[in-house]
Amino acid sequence: MKKVKKWRYYCDFCKKAGTYGPPMAKHEKNCTMNPGRGCGMCDRLDNSFPEPIETLMAPLKELEALRLKQTKTTTIGDLEIEGSPRLVDETKAAIDKLRKLSGHCPACMLAAVRQSKADVEFFDYKAEVKNKFKKGGRITSVFQLETAIKHGQWIYLHDTPKHPSWIAHMTFKTVMSLLDCRPTGLYFAVPNEKETIWTRSIG
Ligand SMILES: [Zn+2]
Ligand SMILES: [Zn+2]
Repeated sequence: MKKVKKWRYYCDFCKKAGTYGPPMAKHEKNCTMNPGRGCGMCDRLDNSFPEPIETLMAPLKELEALRLKQTKTTTIGDLEIEGSPRLVDETKAAIDKLRKLSGHCPACMLAAVRQSKADVEFFDYKAEVKNKFKKGGRITSVFQLETAIKHGQWIYLHDTPKHPSWIAHMTFKTVMSLLDCRPTGLYFAVPNEKETIWTRSIG
């Protein structure tokens, strides 16, 4: 019998852990909880660095300040009840501002939401991702798929844009059957025009 001790790698910023160092190092660099993060999504799309997290968090902090200002404490007998306002329109406006500031990068938006700890009830990461991309051409060969993954390109599967690592973790058998499967298949995820995203309201 063999006894093996294995290293486990933990992200310094969130709860993610893994058995391999390099993928965890890559995660940590772009982790949405890392205040000095890079951004896989921004870098890939137009080679720009993400806006500093403080800039991105500004509209969310304004929202929280407003909420605090409007919070009312009601005393009933010995009980003190805090009533925070819901601020529906203000929350939607803050998300719109954040979307513009980030150049519509869902990952950067998520980072700002998580790190500000603001109550942003209408923020929907999946919807932001879905709205960012449109379906491009069909991927017809393993070579095309491999190239796309290498370049960090997002891929459409079942009408949902998926991060390339998601596809990279599938078994070869699954990938082959998806490539062959009509009409499901795999498609390139092409970024939508920013103007289109900004004028369309999400959620
Ligand atoms: Zn992390
Ligand atoms: Zn980004």
